[in-house]
Amino acid sequence: MINLHSNLRNIDGVLHFGGRNMSEIAEKYGTPLYVMDEQTIRANCRTYVRAMKKYFGESSYPCYASKACCFKDIYRIIGSEGMSADCVSCGEIYTAKSAGFDMSKIHFHSNSKNDYDINYAIDAGVGYFVVDNLEELFALNDIAGKRNIRQKILLRLTPGIDTHTYEAVRTGNVDSKFGFPIETGAAQKAVKKALACENIELKGYHCHIGSQLFDSDVFIRAADIMIEFTCKMRDKFNYIAEEIDLGGGYGVRYHESDPIIDIENNIRLVADRFHKKCRTMNITPPAVILEPGRSIVADAGITLYTVGNVKRIEGYKNYVAVDGGMGDNPRNLFYGSTYSVLSVENLNKPATFLCDLVGRFCESGDVVTPNISLPEDVKRGDKVAVLTTGAYNFSMSSNYNRYPRPAVIMIDGDTDRISVRQETIEDIISRDN
Ligand SMILES: *Cc1c(COP(=O)(O)O)cnc(C)c1O
Repeated sequence: MINLHSNLRNIDGVLHFGGRNMSEIAEKYGTPLYVMDEQTIRANCRTYVRAMKKYFGESSYPCYASKACCFKDIYRIIGSEGMSADCVSCGEIYTAKSAGFDMSKIHFHSNSKNDYDINYAIDAGVGYFVVDNLEELFALNDIAGKRNIRQKILLRLTPGIDTHTYEAVRTGNVDSKFGFPIETGAAQKAVKKALACENIELKGYHCHIGSQLFDSDVFIRAADIMIEFTCKMRDKFNYIAEEIDLGGGYGVRYHESDPIIDIENNIRLVADRFHKKCRTMNITPPAVILEPGRSIVADAGITLYTVGNVKRIEGYKNYVAVDGGMGDNPRNLFYGSTYSVLSVENLNKPATFLCDLVGRFCESGDVVTPNISLPEDVKRGDKVAVLTTGAYNFSMSSNYNRYPRPAVIMIDGDTDRISVRQETIEDIISRDN
């Protein structure tokens, strides 16, 4: 069997995930189905919380990027592990609040917050705004002033690093739509303006370089640039940042050929360099924040489907079509992302049938993942598992073609529970007049 994550097992030819039989879970809840493993999410949180305190210092902390996977149970789990969280919308903030999450640990992102969003987030009591642009800074200062509060913020900066990853997930470069570029002087101007805002408390700087990164080089380069900027602002404005957020982006293995990443060791490497750089520049090391999304939840999720048909186009290619697709996983369509796939009940059969795993949505581009192999006798009714779907699948799901979105089942040792119930077709028309 594909050896991808330690929570996957082959027991008598049947896929087990988080210690549970996935054939039984598929029978119990039906397909398509998102299945997540609470213990894996917790273990991933602990890796970050422990390593960040150990290597960056007690006041450093990880902030889970909600957009990777957002529903109430996620906030209960990460909250109990001591994580902070990034939210990018009122919807994410509301979800966190409804789950009883400590709102002072919420960082509110978004490059285009309107007045409604700003008021909503202040009412909800979010701890930090991550300010993207001057219009937002001034609007926030006004609104905070009317409410007689001083709002903590970080300024989102673009350090100008090109990560050579796919264009759509590249955000640290100078021409990004996110943040204030350091290179053009916009970042320095923003610091000056923020320090002059009466109702703003500037806590420090934020940057986010990219996603699905396996190398700490980019974090190290970002840290260097952020510390240099911190020094420059100290010299210019006598202002020393207390916190520096280096963003998210550590990768996960979608395929056996992807590198294995040791998060703790990577954090140690970045921290060593960070402290060395601070010493060289003669600056007290600010607290560090990291914002992992994918690496908290991706390997904690799989998606179960049932095969609808097998199309063998002689001399061309083969398709295996399932009862889901771009509505529950649009990542192949958006980014060309690919996944590893297993036949849930036939792990002991050789997987020699080459095919594309496709969905049931009305788009030729509705491919779950191309060029996979399943057992030769794959047929209607077989269950297949797509692995490593815990990040950016549920959160990017849609009702395209008016298909209801699948349930999310949470496995926790011997128990399983519905974290998000199956959407119904009544739900889908519930907003229609
Ligand atoms: C998306 C995002 C993250 C999380 O990135 P991952 O690659 O999922 O770890 C963190 N910070 C910001 C600002 C983001 O936009």
